[in-house]
Amino acid sequence: MSTRCGFVALAGRPNVGKSTLVNALVGGPVAAVSPRPQTTRRAIRGVRTRGENQLVLVDLPGLQRPRDLMTERMAKRLAQEVEEADHVLMVVDAAQGIGPGDRYLAETLKRLGAPTTVAVNKIDLLSKVRTAEALLAAERLEVGEEIFPISARTGEGVEALAAHLESLLPEGPHLFEPQQRSDQPLELQIAEVIREALLNRLYDEVPHASEVAVEEVVQREGGRWYIKAAIWVETDSQRAIVIGKGGRMVKAVGTAARKALELLLGGPVYLELTVRTRKGWRGEPAALSQLRIE
Ligand code: GDP
Ligand code: MG
Repeated sequence: MSTRCGFVALAGRPNVGKSTLVNALVGGPVAAVSPRPQTTRRAIRGVRTRGENQLVLVDLPGLQRPRDLMTERMAKRLAQEVEEADHVLMVVDAAQGIGPGDRYLAETLKRLGAPTTVAVNKIDLLSKVRTAEALLAAERLEVGEEIFPISARTGEGVEALAAHLESLLPEGPHLFEPQQRSDQPLELQIAEVIREALLNRLYDEVPHASEVAVEEVVQREGGRWYIKAAIWVETDSQRAIVIGKGGRMVKAVGTAARKALELLLGGPVYLELTVRTRKGWRGEPAALSQLRIE
């Protein structure tokens, strides 16, 4: 059986629903989904494997007119990612309407000569008439050959879009195992967030040897995430620092981590955080400091 595999780069203003669409295409949480603009500054790949087809999705940062160094860098990154991709999927927000930001992006993609498909997202919020109007507005962008009305939230139109993208894939070997959804496991992404919250508060005091181990990740009914993680340190005195007076430090770390995790996962998070000393930990009670954060 000949296999097909390719990179699809998602382009679109912040908040149009790119991360949500990656999750819908992949069939599970991969990318940061957030109600706040610009949550995604890194390219996050989602992988969708169905039969012989493998779509590797790159979630691009939102493009803004170059205003400062950061947005200029983001624009450069976008050009680079677009070049490396086989196809570009431009996402617009039908509910908010197509605006100057979309037109600027469309012009940029045309200038880069990027083969593009347009997804008109959030049609679940619109009547049929307003959806039709949004499709016409998307046509006037004059970018790409095909336009798909979708709702990344409800999944409407997503399979039709996926089938179109799959039909464009070049022949080639799959780059990821079929069960792999991301090039970075969710547990690792979660551990990174917790570690960052820890280092933000204890930059000098916490040894680089400290580690975060994610022990359990469960999404319960109603979308609530239950996460159990341990912060490992090397000595008891380091443990005392991480725990803080009356548990204040670990509580602050846990609260900051929980908020960031809610952005990453797009839902409420219940975090159970434990601090453990690596040396001789087997002889100690399993939970030296156990804290539940909601
Ligand atoms: P990104 O910045 O383009 O990656 O956008 P996100 O995927 O983070 O989504 C931004 C916001 O729009 C979140 O609150 C999503 O829940 C919401 N959203 C995304 N897709 C849809 C959709 O199809 N319908 C509705 N109603 N909301 C959506
Ligand atoms: Mg995003």
